[in-house]
Amino acid sequence: MFYNQIAMDWLQKLALLSQDDGLEVDAEPNPGSEALPVCHPARTTQTTTRLLDHISHVTLQGGRKIPVLKVLLTSVCEYNCAYCPFRVGRDFRRATFQPEELARAFLQIYNAGLVKGLFLSSGIAGGGIRTQDRLIATAEVLRNKLGFQGYLHLKLMPGAEPAQVERAVALASRVSINLEMPGNQYLEHWAPRKVPQSRMLEPLQLAHQAVLNQQYRSIRRWISLTTQFVVGIGETDAELLQITAHLYRQLGLSRVYYSPFRPIEDTPLEDHPAENPHRALRLYQASFLLRDYGFSFDELPLNPDGRLALEVDPKMAWAQRYLTHPLEVNRASREELIRVPGIGPKSALAIIRARRLFRLRDLRQLRQLGVNVERAAPYLLLDGRQPARQLTLTF
Ligand code: SF4
Repeated sequence: MFYNQIAMDWLQKLALLSQDDGLEVDAEPNPGSEALPVCHPARTTQTTTRLLDHISHVTLQGGRKIPVLKVLLTSVCEYNCAYCPFRVGRDFRRATFQPEELARAFLQIYNAGLVKGLFLSSGIAGGGIRTQDRLIATAEVLRNKLGFQGYLHLKLMPGAEPAQVERAVALASRVSINLEMPGNQYLEHWAPRKVPQSRMLEPLQLAHQAVLNQQYRSIRRWISLTTQFVVGIGETDAELLQITAHLYRQLGLSRVYYSPFRPIEDTPLEDHPAENPHRALRLYQASFLLRDYGFSFDELPLNPDGRLALEVDPKMAWAQRYLTHPLEVNRASREELIRVPGIGPKSALAIIRARRLFRLRDLRQLRQLGVNVERAAPYLLLDGRQPARQLTLTF
């Protein structure tokens, strides 16, 4: 039995190091979907020695999902972020792996076919630079000593040096740094020992440059950059989406994660209410409008208080405000089509290909091309005519 091959103390250590170090979602909600993003295991102080409880799923570029072991190198942390279960002084049992110990244990799990990758982070012990060195040392063992070629997500630590960032990019499939909050006013309040936001952005800028250099030199085909924000401790959607737009446009991030705040006992925010997961869903949908649909920050349908409406998705909210004249499907550009609710990048492309061959005249054709016609019909003209709104008719 596989579990017998892994020392029990290793499993117990893993349990102590997997108490929800982060909450990146594995779902990719689309701008019209009401499905809530699926979060990884809830923040908890419970430990479990069942290995499967420490495996999460990650969505890769292109939509493929893979199981990954998500683990900290150490749950010791000298910082005091108010929302975090690992903050210094909080009373719970902590554990630390040595880099080679973790690399070898992970490889056993990988070779047993239970996971296809590793997501490696750490509490900050001995400063950001030393912690980054230990993360890189683990990756070096995996890649260079043990020959691991699979998915490897490495965290960048606040204060990491340029050479460390470059090395991390050379070793990893994905690198990330948790920006956590959309401005210094929040960081100073809730994460006072973290470096200012401008210094946290530096590693991402360096990583972006390193990725470009590697791609230019054709060393690796695809390396992604991501970050994560905690949502629900005072910030507005406008603040989050403004920095999100910057991260997508200027730093080439492939994904920004929004983690709805949940209170943790024995922290300064233990009585703060949990954030509504629907808010994170709307943020994801708005961030995809920025990333994939050509929207600028100024075009997002934010309310005067800087919030997105919870009851309607942002693409539909934008269309209700601004798409006042229906769009002729047979003439509209790709950029115009993908702004219509119910039409995404794939269905827009299918429309453009189809109309080279024949004129589009009814909703049935659009449906066959992947359009959500119930959402799209009010905003479209088909061959000069507004389609019938009774869409249940013939489908
Ligand atoms: S740096 Fe802050 S968020 Fe990160 S592990 Fe330490 S206390 Fe938690």
